[in-house]
Amino acid sequence: MKITALAGGVGGAKLIDGLSRVLNPSELSVIVNTGDDFIHYGLHISPDLDTITYTLGGMANPFSGWGRFEETYNMISSLEVLGGQTWFLLGDKDLAVHLERTRLLNQGYPLSSVTSKFCHAWGIKQLILPMTDNDVRTVIDTVESGELSFQQYFVENKYRPQVKNIHFSGIETASPAPGVLEAIEQADGVIISPSNPWVSIDPISHIPGIGSALKKKIIIAVSPIISGSAIKGPAAKMFSEMGIQPSSVAVFRHYSQYLSGFVLDNIDKSRSHEIPIPTLVTQTIMKSTQDRVSLAQSVIDFLQTL
Ligand code: GDP
Repeated sequence: MKITALAGGVGGAKLIDGLSRVLNPSELSVIVNTGDDFIHYGLHISPDLDTITYTLGGMANPFSGWGRFEETYNMISSLEVLGGQTWFLLGDKDLAVHLERTRLLNQGYPLSSVTSKFCHAWGIKQLILPMTDNDVRTVIDTVESGELSFQQYFVENKYRPQVKNIHFSGIETASPAPGVLEAIEQADGVIISPSNPWVSIDPISHIPGIGSALKKKIIIAVSPIISGSAIKGPAAKMFSEMGIQPSSVAVFRHYSQYLSGFVLDNIDKSRSHEIPIPTLVTQTIMKSTQDRVSLAQSVIDFLQTL
């Protein structure tokens, strides 16, 4: 069964990890958000691509869910002594990735080729695709500080500012990276991971061509909102600040134009009758590898019933 998943970073990576353990590598493709990418110290950083590839390569920090396992921080501590900008924590192994990515991009290789090269080097056999090779940047318009780039909002300001609006600069003229439309077209089903709908999945689905390709497929989404809250990060806060009560039902409505099925947590069972398409009510909180595998298997079984 061929599955294509859409993913952001930490929440998405947990389900992708589960899927990678129940599917053959050739059965799984992942389209990853690059709206969070940014240039820092002259380096091109792709936080979501790195989280997904570090996870599939068995190199992810199991405690934070992002960054590398057994990481050291010599560069950033040396930078701190000099009074440099240290708000974005860069480990030494992580830094090597950004250095090499930037070198290759500067030589003219597109991000999709660089990602493919890195996957090969790390022995990752699943197809990992950035959503686009173009510069699409998530911009958060806030009440207190006006427009902030995503990392300024998320990391530097710890997502405290109140969100007024979100837009994706450059998206109108962007096109899907090579392989993205094919991965959607060839899939037996598409899974929207439990990632932040506003800033991890919307940038992907809003790229011209991707939304219309998605609408032709059987798609299910797993809610990242459980009992009105996000497990981590600003997803619930964003729903509230956009004037929507955060809930799994709100996530369903956010994606409803695409969906054939929806997965929500046991905790939200009482609200499943508000969702007018087939639902799977199950444990979606992934604390262990076994939780990831169980959810992935349940999601695939559910998809096969649709
Ligand atoms: P980011 O780009 O690193 O912020 O990561 P994502 O957008 O992929 O994921 C963030 C979302 O993942 C948050 O809204 C969390 O609520 C959700 N999330 C994290 N862990 C879990 C989990 O174990 N289960 C579910 N259902 N959602 C999760």
